[in-house]
Amino acid sequence: MKICIIDADLIGRKKHRFPNLVCEKISAYWKEQNAEVELKLNYENLEQYDRVYISKVFTDTPVPQWIQDGVDMDNVSVDLPANIYVGGTGFFFAKAPNLPNEIEHHMPDYHLYDDWIFDEVKKAEARANSEGREFKRSKFIAQFKEYLDYSIGFITRGCFRKCGFCVNKKYDHVFEHSPLEEFYDLSRKKICLLDDNFLGCPNWKELLQQLIATEKAFKFKQGLDERLLTQEKCDMLFNAKYDGDFTFAFDNISDYDLIHSKLKMIRNSTKSNKHSIKFYVLVGFESTDHIDIENCFKRIELLFKYQCLPYVMRYQNKNETPWKDSKYRSLYVTIARWANQPSLVKKMSFRQFCEANQALHKTKGTYCSSMKSLVDFENEYPDIANRYFDMRYEEMKCF
Ligand code: SF4
Repeated sequence: MKICIIDADLIGRKKHRFPNLVCEKISAYWKEQNAEVELKLNYENLEQYDRVYISKVFTDTPVPQWIQDGVDMDNVSVDLPANIYVGGTGFFFAKAPNLPNEIEHHMPDYHLYDDWIFDEVKKAEARANSEGREFKRSKFIAQFKEYLDYSIGFITRGCFRKCGFCVNKKYDHVFEHSPLEEFYDLSRKKICLLDDNFLGCPNWKELLQQLIATEKAFKFKQGLDERLLTQEKCDMLFNAKYDGDFTFAFDNISDYDLIHSKLKMIRNSTKSNKHSIKFYVLVGFESTDHIDIENCFKRIELLFKYQCLPYVMRYQNKNETPWKDSKYRSLYVTIARWANQPSLVKKMSFRQFCEANQALHKTKGTYCSSMKSLVDFENEYPDIANRYFDMRYEEMKCF
């Protein structure tokens, strides 16, 4: 039996560096049946395989036209050669069918990508040698850490919130999905959880205790729902061996008071800045006007007070990118360029960031795009600009 596995995001997205868990589970399942399994990096000669599995996570990842034409996203059906199986949110968005149980609950094949990584390292080393540069192997290999260092899985699945911008609409509650031992590989240094809303699981405490008991660093890649934090949850989480930044979301300005109370709770558990705490700040979803811009800055202001970092996410879905049609398109870009670079946002106000860009602008007597977006908005809405454009992370700590 010859099995071909195609991680479409790996082929179609240049900088994509995260293993496709479905591909890893399919691989492990078929290897156990003694099949010959290949991770394929192109779409050629697919007829030579008994089964070809093509998976993609992102809707905007390109695939060959014949595949796209054969997929009916709305009716979750395909009209493709019989040996081709496609799946994932990238093809079917919120309607993506589940894997069969025996594959879904299989230990992933964490070595599916080994040959590809080996080839990438070899190619980069050869390139460096031919250009007379030193090849820093460990630095280069760091980009593959998610493939090499982590056990990956969903300890819970589902979410009850049904946010309008989110793909997770299939379930209306959070439930236990994979017991830790189903995907936990002792030989791997760390654990990466892909759960949709872990804190919403009724059994969160026992599951968190299990994670802590492994003594491995762990992280929730999709972020955590800070609206569900309690002091007990904060104390356990912020004292655990967490891997990297804690990530939450501050999507709606209507949650302002609730988030404020949770930020106080977070800082009760962690007074210092030892933990980097980041919040996604969704923009361009409810509107793309001055109110949306103001709401963005208002959320950033609150985060700064509790020494948390924003990550501005410009909303887009499979068909639309509303911020690109906004008169503030350039302002959205500038805000994201400022807010999403921790080293800059910690040191500079928004205005200082634009001034720094202007200083590098070559055409004298004109504004660079960043400064122009600031000036235009400030002329239109001086009160909003006055309140937010000069605020500085360093000066705002309130706890
Ligand atoms: S809370 Fe998070 S996972 Fe749940 S629907 Fe909203 S964005 Fe999606």
